[in-house]
Amino acid sequence: MPGEFDLITQYFDQLTPQRDDVLLGIGDDAALCLPPQGQALVIAVDTLIAGVHFPLQTCAEDVGYKALAVNLSDLAAMGATPAWMTLALTLPGVDEGWLAAFSQGLGALAKQHQVALIGGDTTRGALSVSVQIMGFVPSGQALQRHTAQPGDFIYVTGELGAAGLALKSLNGEVHLSASEQKQALLALNRPVPRLAIGKCLRGIASSAIDISDGLWADLGHILERSQLGAQLQLADLPLSPLLLPHLSPQQAWELALTAGDEYELCFTVPPERIKQLESALAGQSYCCIGQITVEPGLRCLDENQQLWQDGLENKGYQHFF
Ligand code: ADP
Ligand code: MG
Repeated sequence: MPGEFDLITQYFDQLTPQRDDVLLGIGDDAALCLPPQGQALVIAVDTLIAGVHFPLQTCAEDVGYKALAVNLSDLAAMGATPAWMTLALTLPGVDEGWLAAFSQGLGALAKQHQVALIGGDTTRGALSVSVQIMGFVPSGQALQRHTAQPGDFIYVTGELGAAGLALKSLNGEVHLSASEQKQALLALNRPVPRLAIGKCLRGIASSAIDISDGLWADLGHILERSQLGAQLQLADLPLSPLLLPHLSPQQAWELALTAGDEYELCFTVPPERIKQLESALAGQSYCCIGQITVEPGLRCLDENQQLWQDGLENKGYQHFF
């Protein structure tokens, strides 16, 4: 791409915070970093493709923010602290206005979490953004998926369904007021990675995952990897207040369970650590939605403790075993 080096210098070279553990950043064949002793290096990568992972009309600043936010969310789910990132950017052409806004969105979130951009790759093609994030967690303390135990309580952070509602609104399936639309789009385009909560959960949660594919699917990954099942209380799902004016309770539950792009954390806690959890997460937004069972599969009970039959199974969602 012509002017590639100028673009990198202009938009990315000085974009993010300086860190003492970066020995060599952008500009050489590769970056050199010094991980702290006694900590495990945590690495994740997520790609956003225009029209697949974000609507084509998404503004560049939101794309920049979200490309990093979804990666920070993966580190949050591991209980890790982020440190460095690389950026593989594929652009259909050089649009300086787009690049300026994109780098602003990316840079602002990087600054908030002290993440340094240490390198990347720039190519021409259909718009796609890959961020690779690297961070640390004290050795042996990472939160994982395969470690839930029968009897553990299941929790989720924040509220569910607003991002899914935004997509429904963009597809014309629901009609939101201007202020509702604004809030829903904020949930979709500006997810808040739960890094502080993830860190607090070290030594308390028995397992954790971020629900980027939706609660049903991602709790499903914990269950599958832990070879267990779960019972959820639908009435305890923390539905976004945006949902019920536009959806029936059943539709709202379905959206809260299946809509992706949430970036909240779902985690499990053994009963004997509930007190510890409550003091560690005092003032944070989280709630208990169910319990891990020995019996495999994911069962949802309605407010009358009846098995919710007409929801997900009939729409092609399968139990896991
Ligand atoms: P190479 O040919 O060695 O792969 P490049 O020409 O791809 O090098 O990149 C030159 C330098 O600019 C490298 O240090 C690379 O990490 C950095 N870089 C390239 N694209 C980006 C980007 N989008 N964001 C940040 N750094 C980038
Ligand atoms: Mg390269």
